[in-house]
Amino acid sequence: MSADCIFCRIAKKEINADTVYEDDDVIAFKDLNPQAPVHLLIIPKKHIETLNDLDGRDLELAGRLILKTKEIAVDAGLGEDGYRLVINCNRNAGQEVFHIHLHLMGGRKFNWPPG
Ligand code: 5GP
Ligand code: ZN
Repeated sequence: MSADCIFCRIAKKEINADTVYEDDDVIAFKDLNPQAPVHLLIIPKKHIETLNDLDGRDLELAGRLILKTKEIAVDAGLGEDGYRLVINCNRNAGQEVFHIHLHLMGGRKFNWPPG
């Protein structure tokens, strides 16, 4: 946990979020500034700053984050039409919150390649 990390504070309920799923290790909530009709953020409760900071000890956690994200997407009815997962890492990707998170976006068509 990091005291000044906004996503740790959401995980600790110090800041409100529109939570759609939670268990001991993972929490999923609506993005404050949605870029699609469905735009959720799926985070580990453990404070990990970027994708670069994942290591072998996080293997199971990383797998469960992706699997849970898929379940949330399918439960939201996005499975057939499709959806996009994004993890921004550092400056070139535009990462703004340095607590690792998956963006789950759906409900519209996305361009490829991304901007
Ligand atoms: P990043 O650019 O780091 O990949 O994405 C950070 C995301 O977090 C942005 O889409 C932004 O809208 C979202 N965000 C930032 N602060 C908050 C907050 O306090 N609550 C929620 N729900 N989302 C936030
Ligand atoms: Zn954090």
